Amino acid sequence: MIDSNARVLLIYTGGTIGMVENPETGALEPFNFSHLRSFMPEIKRLKFQVDSYLFDPPIDSSDMSPFIWQQIGKVIEENYEFYDGFVILHGTDTMAYTASALSFMLENLTKPVILTGSQLPIGKLRTDGKENLITALEIAADKKENGNPIVPELSVYMQNLLMRGNRTTKYNAHHFTAFKSPNYPSLAEAGLNIRYNDNSILKPDYSKPIRFNYGMDSNVVVLKLFPGISTEVVRANLNIPGLRGMIIETFGTGNSPRMPEFIELLKNAIDRGIVLVNVTQCLYGSVEMQRYENGQQLQKLGVVSGCDITTEAALTKLMSLLGSDLSPEAVRHQMQVSLRGEMTVRR
Ligand code: ASP
Repeated sequence: MIDSNARVLLIYTGGTIGMVENPETGALEPFNFSHLRSFMPEIKRLKFQVDSYLFDPPIDSSDMSPFIWQQIGKVIEENYEFYDGFVILHGTDTMAYTASALSFMLENLTKPVILTGSQLPIGKLRTDGKENLITALEIAADKKENGNPIVPELSVYMQNLLMRGNRTTKYNAHHFTAFKSPNYPSLAEAGLNIRYNDNSILKPDYSKPIRFNYGMDSNVVVLKLFPGISTEVVRANLNIPGLRGMIIETFGTGNSPRMPEFIELLKNAIDRGIVLVNVTQCLYGSVEMQRYENGQQLQKLGVVSGCDITTEAALTKLMSLLGSDLSPEAVRHQMQVSLRGEMTVRR
């Protein structure tokens, strides 16, 4: 039910949705947000109020950073009590990272915060941006009969699907359906109507005040294993000055090579307080280190299981936990707990 008194804040960070083609170079570049509104007269026809906030300059999301995540968080914090929901326009390239990072930044979120964007600029005839934006705005304003929002969590809306933000990954550089939530059902599907999947939507505790956890430590690295990876590569990564955490993208259910030098390097890193997290290279499924000897070795060392978390969510969760005042032990523990529905923990 859309309440005509609802207010939604539209936060424009950049991305293709608001870009135009540079006639000289042919490259897409961000442009002024007022043009976006003029390309979208439909916004005026919505039955609720939409205000906007512009990041200046708008950016290609490849330039996204923890600093800008903090700025987005601050815009939400300053406006939280005045709006029923928030829609963030964002480039698709790093949208899954931003969605994940913000989900950990905003603790006890009780309002919809929806990221959306497009693969074609809004000024193009075949743009996917209009439907994405209008539907995201409607979902942000949609409420239950008791006045609570229908989707009080951090989500991504792209091409008919509303997905939990920290479950998403961009898997297609070409298609309009560029995102997947491989290990978690979608929160809603937009067709003739918007069908909400109530059982999959988080149920927040409305009595708890929202908390903004701005700390983000970038002293982390993602190491993707491959057959033939040299110990030199592993050593060089683990010896990065100031390193506090590593996401290891392993094979299948969480397996790695068994070379003694490799295992020794990981053991030494854990002894130095570096948090090592095991995430599978597969799009679907979960880490289960107990399944094979090669995985069990990692488990015995104290490598933490990321279960079915995406690399984007694992990385930003690690950055966020390391950015708070937690000991490595506490970070390791929290990495194995689902904090915002980012992973399925099976015991
Ligand atoms: N490079 C663009 C960005 O992420 C791509 C897009 O928006 O789809 O900002």
